[in-house]
Amino acid sequence: MNADNIIIFTDLDGSLLNHDDFQFKKIRSFIIDCLNCGIKIIPNSSKTKREIEVFSNQLGKQLPFIVENGAAVHNLDLLNINLKSNTNSIIFSRTIDEIIEIFKKKVPAIFKDKCLFVKDMKKQKQKEILGLNDDYLPFALNRGYSTPFIFNGSSKLFDEFKLILESLGMKLHEGGRVLNISDNCSKGSALNTLVNKLQNDLFLSPYVIAVGDSPNDISMLKEANQPCVVPLPNKNNLNNLKMNNILRAKQCAPEGWEEVIRLSLKKININMIG
Ligand SMILES: [Mg+2]
Repeated sequence: MNADNIIIFTDLDGSLLNHDDFQFKKIRSFIIDCLNCGIKIIPNSSKTKREIEVFSNQLGKQLPFIVENGAAVHNLDLLNINLKSNTNSIIFSRTIDEIIEIFKKKVPAIFKDKCLFVKDMKKQKQKEILGLNDDYLPFALNRGYSTPFIFNGSSKLFDEFKLILESLGMKLHEGGRVLNISDNCSKGSALNTLVNKLQNDLFLSPYVIAVGDSPNDISMLKEANQPCVVPLPNKNNLNNLKMNNILRAKQCAPEGWEEVIRLSLKKININMIG
């Protein structure tokens, strides 16, 4: 298989970036090697546009990317120049104001009362919950399509809440640190739209590798030719996920990311040097 036929859709926090300090220095040169080989890497994260731009700047490479749990894709031309549209983006979601309006009007109080939104917390608490400092906190709070929160209820109530949101055309996403309410979009559906576009518009059939660590990555892992899971420290997030061909890293991020990507590439006879 040609390396330029491979697309890696990857979660960032806890999968490629270390869960505690968001570092990826140890695998930066491996990521660059993959890109130089022609492999496409698409961050598919609950992070905002600005946060992923910060990551791209740290990497020193601009990438196509999917924001806020599948709400929008940006830099289409970097995936394939022929995908470029006027805006170079596709938006799959209503605005956060519309979503919050539906939440306020339609969600029963028994669930609403259990939701503690990050946007309403004191700054110190926001930093603690998101694990961010003063420099990066504003980028995480400036959300266009989703709102992070904590649920202070039983797991039974939590499951019911999920169903209520679904019945209202919204989704609840469970990341490594917080929950998110969003429109009816997911990492998997955004991935699917992009791959279908490549197939139907450009007659390409990419080989898809997906990397995740949390429940909000499952939809993406299910759509991949090669699903990969990176473990979180002290949290059994996806240990019970059953999939035939899943690859599981032994190490946490960032090293675990390199570990599963090397294994995935080896399975299709691409051996990265180093
Ligand atoms: Mg994650």
